[in-house]
This record gives sequence, structure tokens and C-alpha cells, in this order.
Amino acid sequence: MKNLIPKTYAEALEMLNNDNLRILAGGTDLMIQNRSWSNMLPDFKTGTILIFNLEELKYMVQEEHFLHIGSGMTLEDIKDNELTPKLLVDALKIMASPAIRNMATIGGNIGNASPAGDSLPVLYVLNALVVLESVEAMRDVPIHDFIIGPGKKTIKQNEIIKEIKIPTNNLTIVKFDKIGGRKADAISKISFAGAAHVKNNIIQDFRVAFGAVGPTVVRKYDLESHLVGLTLDDVSLNIKEILSEYGKYIRPIDDQRSNKEYRKEVALNLLESFILSL
Ligand SMILES: Cc1cc2nc3c(=O)[nH]c(=O)nc-3n(C[C@H](O)[C@H](O)[C@H](O)COP(=O)(O)OP(=O)(O)OC[C@H]3O[C@@H](n4cnc5c(N)ncnc54)[C@H](O)[C@@H]3O)c2cc1C
Repeated sequence: MKNLIPKTYAEALEMLNNDNLRILAGGTDLMIQNRSWSNMLPDFKTGTILIFNLEELKYMVQEEHFLHIGSGMTLEDIKDNELTPKLLVDALKIMASPAIRNMATIGGNIGNASPAGDSLPVLYVLNALVVLESVEAMRDVPIHDFIIGPGKKTIKQNEIIKEIKIPTNNLTIVKFDKIGGRKADAISKISFAGAAHVKNNIIQDFRVAFGAVGPTVVRKYDLESHLVGLTLDDVSLNIKEILSEYGKYIRPIDDQRSNKEYRKEVALNLLESFILSL
């Protein structure tokens, strides 16, 4: 079995094109998913390509329309970068422990495609684009089209997540919250990202996304558009109806971490508290 360590990004693209390899970045998900007996090396079923050392994937650049975040940036480096939007900083601060955050990459959090991945609701709300590259082409895929189910994503075997592009926005009110066993080191039972822009008491932009309440992050563009143009008073008066509409799409499951009734109630409480804080 091949386990390759490319020296350059171009070499990584060639290697991915030539073999069926599993991309290994920080390994904080993959090493656990492929663990074997204690004190034994992980048991990978396919060859791997280690990209963690590729400096070409570690960058953050603000351009006129987009913030570009290289997929190899660690969660800790992104958290500490002055270009990072506050909403993403707030999420990163309560993701994992500092030790894990220094290994875990943003490309890995997206590539893992877990409905409980904490950066995901934030990236949905920020309309992030996932930039995929292969030796043949480069393409931008909206994050909600990239992730199609738990662990399932629209990436070809020879493609790599090169970067994440976050469009410039004028969202002035942002909120991230996560309910887990222990805040930072636990897998989320629920995560919530909200962002809005309100001017003269009227909602100009409103976006919310929920993690761990369905097979993928839940963001309902049609419900959001109904709120745009309403006054804050209108929204407060109709809060029950808004929550009931969202309730139709929040379909968590029971698992060892929590039950579905609790998850749904908490998700709607987070939404209510965000709306009433506008
Ligand atoms: C103790 C602990 C606590 C954790 N806490 C949290 C938490 O609070 N919140 C949270 O969301 N996660 C948490 N995690 C999960 C994990 O740390 C994150 O999902 C992390 O961002 C994964 O990044 P990585 O670089 O380690 O990914 P890896 O494990 O290397 O890869 C994960 C997946 O992404 C793919 N991949 C990686 N990079 C790329 C790329 N550039 N292009 C294409 N595919 C790619 C891999 O093939 C794999 O399928 C925790 C993990 C541990 C062990």
C-alpha cells in the first residue's frame, strides 16, 4: 500500500491523479476513524497522501470580493488571524482543545463532512465556496452542494480542497453557539450559527444554520427570505410561527449523545434567542 508525502502541491495533484489515495491532513478525524488495537498503528484500507506539510495550502488572503482560506490552515491559525470573520472565530474558540486545533485543518473539518462539524454551520451562513482542484481543472462549489450526506461529498478521486472562499458581506450581528457534553472537546449535540444585518429596525439580511439536527447542516433559504424586509416588531410578533416553520426542517436523531426531542427543543431555543437579540 502506498503512503506518499509530496514535497509540493503540484506533486500532490499528480499523485492524486495517478493513484487511489486517501488525503490525510491533520489526521485528527482519520487517525481515529482508522484506529486499530491500542498501541498499534492505525489500519488504513487504502493508500494515503499526507498534505499537512504543504506550505502552499497555508494562507489567508483578503481580496476585493472574497476572503481566501487555504485548506491546510489549522483551526488555531485561522482563529488567531486578524482576517478571520468574528463568527468563525467564535466557533473556532470552542472547537476541540488547543492541542487538537494545532493539528486539525479547516480542509479536514469540511472534508470529514460530519453533520456535527462545527465550522460547517458558520461556512453555510457565510455562503462559503469550496474550491476543488485537480491536475485538469479548478471549480468552486457552494458548501451546501459540496456536502451531500454524513461523510458524503461531491469531490472526485483526483481532486483536493484547495481553499475556502468567503464572500465579502455586511453582516453586523453574528452568533455561534454549540451544545455539547463539554464545550470544546465534545462532539456537538447541536450547533447554531446566525448572522444578520438590520438597518432602521428593518431586517436587511438574515441567515441561520443548524448543525447535528439532520444528515447535513440545515439552512432554509426560503424561510430566511420571508424575514427580510420585516421590522423587528413584526418578527417578534410572529416568533411562534417562525419557530414552527423551522421546526418542520429540524429532524434530529436519537443517539448516545442525546435524544431527538431535546435536540429539537434546544435548536429552536437557540433560534428564538438569536431572533430576539436582533
Ligand atoms: C479530541 C477531539 C476533539 C474534536 N473536537 C472537535 C470539535 O469540537 N468540533 C469539530 O468540528 N471537530 C472536532 N474534532 C474533529 C476534527 O478535529 C476536525 O474535524 C478537524 O478539522 C479535522 O481536520 P484534520 O486536518 O485533522 O482532518 P483529517 O483527519 O486529516 O481528514 C478528515 C477528512 O477530510 C479529508 N480531507 C482533509 N483535507 C482535505 C483536503 N485538503 N482536500 C480534500 N479532502 C481533505 C480527509 O480525506 C478525511 O476524509 C475533534 C477531534 C478530536 C480527536
